[in-house]
Amino acid sequence: MTAWDLAVVGSGPAGAATAIGALRVDPSLRVALLDRAEFPRDKSCGDGIAPHVIDLLDGAGVTGIVDGHVPVSRLRLEKGSHRVDRTMRRPTWVIPRATFDLRLVDAARTAGATLLRHRVRELAEGSTLVLDGELEARTVVGADGAYSTVARALGMAPGPTAVALRGYAPTPPNRSGAQVIVFDTEGQPAYAWSFDRGDGLSNVGYGELLGRRHRPTKAEMMERLDTLLPAATDGGTDWKGHHLPLVTGRWRPPAGRILLAGDAAGLVNPITGEGIYYAVATGLAAGRAAAEAVIAGHPATAGARYARMTKRLLSGHLRHVAAAAWLGQHSRVVDAGLRASTSDQRVFDDLVELGLARGRITTTLARGLVRELATGTRSRRIEPRRNGL
Ligand SMILES: Cc1cc2nc3c(=O)[nH]c(=O)nc-3n(C[C@H](O)[C@H](O)[C@H](O)COP(=O)(O)OP(=O)(O)OC[C@H]3O[C@@H](n4cnc5c(N)ncnc54)[C@H](O)[C@@H]3O)c2cc1C
Repeated sequence: MTAWDLAVVGSGPAGAATAIGALRVDPSLRVALLDRAEFPRDKSCGDGIAPHVIDLLDGAGVTGIVDGHVPVSRLRLEKGSHRVDRTMRRPTWVIPRATFDLRLVDAARTAGATLLRHRVRELAEGSTLVLDGELEARTVVGADGAYSTVARALGMAPGPTAVALRGYAPTPPNRSGAQVIVFDTEGQPAYAWSFDRGDGLSNVGYGELLGRRHRPTKAEMMERLDTLLPAATDGGTDWKGHHLPLVTGRWRPPAGRILLAGDAAGLVNPITGEGIYYAVATGLAAGRAAAEAVIAGHPATAGARYARMTKRLLSGHLRHVAAAAWLGQHSRVVDAGLRASTSDQRVFDDLVELGLARGRITTTLARGLVRELATGTRSRRIEPRRNGL
């Protein structure tokens, strides 16, 4: 059996970033990057890549990720008859995951990781860690997504979850050059989106928070998507659904030699459904923590190192985003947020930051919300729109 210094389970953004993070500490480490799928592989996603992700990758020496793709600066938020259409402080990107993830995996391989096609089913902990009786490792990072085998092996309980469905459809002129998000006015917190890829197609989809009783079917999600974004499914292909494990304010990484990153760690932004920023940020940190622990000769200290790094990186933000998601379950608060974003670009910018990366509920944002909640009258309430775009 090869004894790996680090075995990374899953080669999505979290897994590839983990390998890159470890090999930046020491390029001679033996890092196995495992995935059950062969790359390039598709992943159900809105394909929205925040500029902060590119910053993190740049900082880790990974370049060329957005080559050939066009930046998107406009964000349109809608709920019922209300619409905010503004330019974001920094443009985002819409890159199909088959391309984005392959570029990250290639960067990890260039850094020295060994990519292995392998579906992990079992993880045994003894003097070393053994995967499926055939792969031995000093440290393991579970980056195996929303249905993580590694998180289950650690006994992690699942938290709040959303479900979403996406497809690719021709971009109509009225949604060209923009990311469009339309909040649902009925039932569970939910929204539909249309993200222009810039090549004639848009990533379109619908997602909602899963309640205790209601589990939407594919047909129901397609129907909500078409209701919120009329004709969004016309000419659509590649429909694919997936669960999103949402952040809570109480996130704690496990101790010891087995770490979790990205969706496997339950890290999806509950306001926007964005998870790639957290996946890359926690992946880079997990890789660094595992590498430093192995080099120090104490693999079991990886968890404590990772906890320190992620606390610095995320803990304040995660509390703020969890509080904002809780508030956002109240329709009046979402209405107030849209009105405040209409009247003040700074509120809009702060909301975007909270939804995309490490933002907080700033004083500007809180003041804007309170002002609109206080002045919102019955006549200003946002009613469901009846006649589409
Ligand atoms: C419909 C939808 C829209 C979304 N839109 C956005 C968006 O626009 N922007 C954004 O930032 N985020 C978005 N997200 C969230 C984003 O897709 C995830 O947060 C992101 O993919 C997390 O990356 P990851 O590497 O943790 O997991 P994944 O990307 O899921 O990668 C996990 C990898 O592990 C592999 N794997 C799983 N189990 C095993 C196993 N047992 N053995 C070996 N390999 C295994 C899988 O094959 C996969 O390659 C969306 C999610 C959904 C469902």
